[in-house]
Amino acid sequence: MSRLKPRPSAAHRWMHCAGSVLAESRFPDETSPWALEGTVAHKVGEYNLLQRNTVVSYPKKAEEGVDVDREMLSHVQVYVSACCGMLGPNGRMSVESRLNLDPLEIALGGTGDCVVVNPFSDVNILDLKYGAGVPVDAKENPQLMIYLLAAALKYADYMPEKGTCTIVQPRCFAKPQKVDTWETDLTELKEWGVEVLVPAYKACFADDPPRHAGEWCRFCKARFDCEARDREAMSAAQAAFDVIPVSELGPDRLREIMEKAPLIRGFLSDIAERVAKELEEGTLLSADVGFKRVAGRSSKKWIDEEMAAAALTAVGIEAYEPKLLSPAKALKAIKQEGLDTEITDLISVSRGSLVVPVDDKREELQNMQFEEIKG
Ligand code: SF4
Repeated sequence: MSRLKPRPSAAHRWMHCAGSVLAESRFPDETSPWALEGTVAHKVGEYNLLQRNTVVSYPKKAEEGVDVDREMLSHVQVYVSACCGMLGPNGRMSVESRLNLDPLEIALGGTGDCVVVNPFSDVNILDLKYGAGVPVDAKENPQLMIYLLAAALKYADYMPEKGTCTIVQPRCFAKPQKVDTWETDLTELKEWGVEVLVPAYKACFADDPPRHAGEWCRFCKARFDCEARDREAMSAAQAAFDVIPVSELGPDRLREIMEKAPLIRGFLSDIAERVAKELEEGTLLSADVGFKRVAGRSSKKWIDEEMAAAALTAVGIEAYEPKLLSPAKALKAIKQEGLDTEITDLISVSRGSLVVPVDDKREELQNMQFEEIKG
């Protein structure tokens, strides 16, 4: 039996690059403090959903060494509220349940954060993403489509007519809406499963499966050791720099370069990361590579705030200073207290603009709006 295991969470990658599953299998699984934080946030979500709590709480102050503080509870609240909001009177909610695509005869599956199915109506998959950095879209997200398809097959007896994929990403500032839902037709989803997903899955098990580089290389464990990715990034960089004066580039060339930019940026930042790591480990010498490590900007923070406050108070120093609430916290407090105080006139909103591909779901800014946000 093959030891290869395509995972739903990496589907965006292996559906573009069949060779990535084999390539990544040679590297150990990575873990990080952020991943552990995410695991704990999921536990808190699971605990509350199983208790059917609409207001999130947790019996412990820490879990696996990670603080379960008010901030985490407020983020998990967004997820729990989204899950509970999907549940109709005769609906069923399954939390952290196993989902698989055995009916399609492929060994693809995993744990769905939350499935809500309402009889003769809808089946819904909700996914909590606790990361703050990279915004993830629900629309046509293959990981969620896989789970939704598996849930639709598992709960076929409930005869749902439509399906939704929801990503709850409460900490991500780059994402305008914290709860992002995409609705899809279940017949089309099943066709996608048979015609697109199953062949892509099977391609991962071919002899010498092909590698195809693109923006999906960003989190591939094999990216530091992948000729296909290096070649593609180098040729994209060469093409980008082999230009007549930049000011003379036409729309087609600008588009080509913009499309390849993430690949080139990823390649360059991985090179910088590798140099930093090898200098630290001593496998690379600054004399050879021409670069060295120096101290970065320092920042100070209390190791234990309560102890620091006690020490300062003991010598007569006022340890705390009163601070005005941020507009976001003030609006939240007013809402929580059920007050009708109007403070929006006291708040100025400044916002930058971003350049994103035209198929991005955010609405395009018109000239007047653009001038407005420039202020
Ligand atoms: S780095 Fe890119 S091209 Fe190479 S295996 Fe990974 S996804 Fe495929």
